[in-house]
Amino acid sequence: MHKDIATPVRTREILDKYGFSFKKSLGQNFLIDTNILNRIVDHANLTESSAAIEVGPGIGALTEQLARRSKKVMAFEIDQRLLPILADTLSPYPNVKVIHQDILKADVRKYIDEELTGIDDIMVVANLPYYVTTPILMKLLEEKLPIRGIVGMLQKEVADRLAAKPGTKEYGSLSIAVQYYTVAETVMIVPKTVFIPQPNVDSAVIRLTVREKPAVIVKDEAFFFQVTRASFAQRRKTILNNLTSQLPNGKQNKEQIISALKEVGIVESRRGETLSIEEFGRLSDALYPIFN
Ligand code: SAM
Repeated sequence: MHKDIATPVRTREILDKYGFSFKKSLGQNFLIDTNILNRIVDHANLTESSAAIEVGPGIGALTEQLARRSKKVMAFEIDQRLLPILADTLSPYPNVKVIHQDILKADVRKYIDEELTGIDDIMVVANLPYYVTTPILMKLLEEKLPIRGIVGMLQKEVADRLAAKPGTKEYGSLSIAVQYYTVAETVMIVPKTVFIPQPNVDSAVIRLTVREKPAVIVKDEAFFFQVTRASFAQRRKTILNNLTSQLPNGKQNKEQIISALKEVGIVESRRGETLSIEEFGRLSDALYPIFN
């Protein structure tokens, strides 16, 4: 077994060898605790026939653990300066493919087809760059990639929003967007001390398990998301007020919105944050004929 990358001493050695300086703008906070990394990988439930997709391998700390515990790892890294470092640190692992791309611009489905052919079980596992966590997660989910799920380190505050239940202050349109596609659970709270440099915020690991079918079946997905976003536009307003002020021609259609709310048994004075995802589904289907 090769020496782990994720120890303070080895990480420092690698950084010094290459004269690497962290770029805050790329969310570079590297993990230096093998124990934590192994626990993250445990939550992905990989087998020898699984593949892992990693976003942002850094100097390869997590990549290495994934390579040891899966058939193939495909890792997207935006920072060119890390490529020679990764070629060095990951040289013992022929089952790793590093791709120099911004994950937000990459055609991930094409890479899955090319690099992970014949592999049925694919998990995304990543210590995410915090400045783009939400766009990355939403891209991976909205593209409906053939993945079992995502295990990701992110800001604790974002994890709380993704996994939030109705009636809590963290619950919002982001919770619904993510829980529409997945079952979301916070599986670990992670101390700042396991990163170099230490981030300013608290961290958590979330597991998103992709549902076989969305949480609710709706007439029109885009309209469903439009209704949920509208309902949370001003959190202190009632659902009726938000819908009339946010939906196009909402004010002119106020009476019809009131009827739609009645039809699905939602009292118009409720606030968006109290509605379950199923209630949003029924509501958007009832509003659909009015706005489409
Ligand atoms: N996986 C490493 C670890 O755990 O030590 C590094 C994690 S660090 C939080 C985030 C990594 O994502 C950095 O290597 C950074 O360069 C990379 N990154 C930032 N934005 C990216 C993007 N849009 N696409 C791909 N990689 C990105």
